[in-house]
Amino acid sequence: MSCSPAELKKKSDEFLSKWQACKDHPGIDGFVEFAVAVSSFTEFLDAKGLPGLHQTARALEQQVLSQFDRWNSDPIPEAPLGDLDGQITEFSGRIVAFLQDKGDANPERRLHQDSEVVTDLLPVKKIWLVTAVPDAWKEVVTQAGYFNIQVEVCGPVYDQKATQDPTIVLVDANGLQPTSFIVRVQALRGRFSASNIIGLNLPSDFEGLKLALRVGCDFCFPVGTAQSAVMARIVKLCGSEEEPPYKVLVVEDSKTASTLIQRTLKESGVESMAISKPQEVLTALAKFQPDLVLMDMYMPGCTGVEVTRVIRQHEEFLSTPVVYLSADTSIALQVDALRLGGDHFLTKPFNPVVLNAVVKSKIDRYRILRRSMYLDSLTGLLNHTSSKQRVDAAVKTAMADGLPLCVAMLDIDHFKKVNDTYGHPMGDQVIRSVAWLLKQRLRKTDAVGRYGGEEFIVILPQADAQRANQLLDRIRVDFSQFHHPVNATSFACTFSCGIAQLAPGISGQALVKLADEALYKAKKQGRNRIIGG
Ligand code: GH3
Ligand code: MG
Ligand code: MG
Ligand code: MG
Repeated sequence: MSCSPAELKKKSDEFLSKWQACKDHPGIDGFVEFAVAVSSFTEFLDAKGLPGLHQTARALEQQVLSQFDRWNSDPIPEAPLGDLDGQITEFSGRIVAFLQDKGDANPERRLHQDSEVVTDLLPVKKIWLVTAVPDAWKEVVTQAGYFNIQVEVCGPVYDQKATQDPTIVLVDANGLQPTSFIVRVQALRGRFSASNIIGLNLPSDFEGLKLALRVGCDFCFPVGTAQSAVMARIVKLCGSEEEPPYKVLVVEDSKTASTLIQRTLKESGVESMAISKPQEVLTALAKFQPDLVLMDMYMPGCTGVEVTRVIRQHEEFLSTPVVYLSADTSIALQVDALRLGGDHFLTKPFNPVVLNAVVKSKIDRYRILRRSMYLDSLTGLLNHTSSKQRVDAAVKTAMADGLPLCVAMLDIDHFKKVNDTYGHPMGDQVIRSVAWLLKQRLRKTDAVGRYGGEEFIVILPQADAQRANQLLDRIRVDFSQFHHPVNATSFACTFSCGIAQLAPGISGQALVKLADEALYKAKKQGRNRIIGG
């Protein structure tokens, strides 16, 4: 869970008060407000990594939304309200129990949030592995340890007590009857609200996977999946990467309409900026850097379609999604709007839940597309170009704030030999493991990039050379003990590292060069060591 219990409580109270208001003053307006609140709470639970509560909230959301199709009367009939009330009471009971379980003080999490560079301040993440064949997972358990992830292995009949929901519960179907697997997942789902439940070794047929997902698995790995893929998922779920908030630019000449749109977006946690003059669109795009534009169709002097066509003349905004909002329901107009660079068409008056759902799904896809432009596909780290940009930005910030900054270059030792002896795919796996280790051990404010083939760059703001050395040396030692499994045996690898600290007047490029020179020295002096700091 990446939110504090207080944050969850606040969000849950907001949602419950909207329900109370809806019951006190039955009517379609209050019900719409409540629907927006359910939707927003559902997304919140998903974003904060509470899959169990999220699944329940999503079922509730579906139920609430289905009422829109059934009711056109105002006020709303009593009976459906009664049904919902029962479900909501049960749901809020689950949240209360969950919060009591956590208590308000979680020293580990607080430590993590304010933590300094040094690794041992980072909390160990706990995960469970429920399996009848623990020997098959030995290597995964050992490897996870290097990423600060402690795997508690339980037999299919377990009575472990958990003081805290494990981040992940892996349930291995191997050696279990299909029905026992389902019963286990159901029981775990009921018990852990914040855990991601992952099914392992599942039959890959449609029915099997559908059932596993339906009873509460968040993700399933079919039989035959490489353990490295399971490991990659574990590391990702235990990581601390958080998505920045969604940003929407509203282009709308009517003040009343834009206020309503912005309010709806805000309810759902979306940041927005509104402009009423279409000719300001390019300046606003450059300044606000939105993930999506909500475009009115009719404005003084030009149409929304014309504004979109102007936007599309600029390379950097070619793929920014544009969603139209118009009171005109003409099919010809909609087709034209979509042909000329638009991505979606919504009619006014808009349903707020639909508006938020469209906005978010378009943004999610847009972000996936953009990610491939600045992240390395093998490791998910920053690629070469964005690493260099990040160094320049970090130098600027450090200079302005008068704070230290270190840059480290890492290079795997004798990597050619790994490729030659074990093959290129195994080489790729070693590269990934360095990436995981670095990501897992660094703070959110640090940055890691794949600078070249088997070369990495680490940017450590607010760390002096001694601190950086301390941190990276621990990672170096751990990596050297890491076993890379191959066939029935395993091998180890090392890396060398050079560190440079920012001094007045040094550019980003010069700082990288200094780190590179230190790395060269480390190689010269025998490898598996750090120079600088
Ligand atoms: P040193 O200790 O001096 O760094 O020796 P080395 O063998 O690691 O150094 P060198 O830079 O000569 O070799 C790097 C090798 O990495 C050469 C290249 O084939 C391999 N390589 C580069 N990118 C990739 C990749 O994406 N995947 C794999 N498997 N190998 C890669
Ligand atoms: Mg208008
Ligand atoms: Mg090398
Ligand atoms: Mg190299």
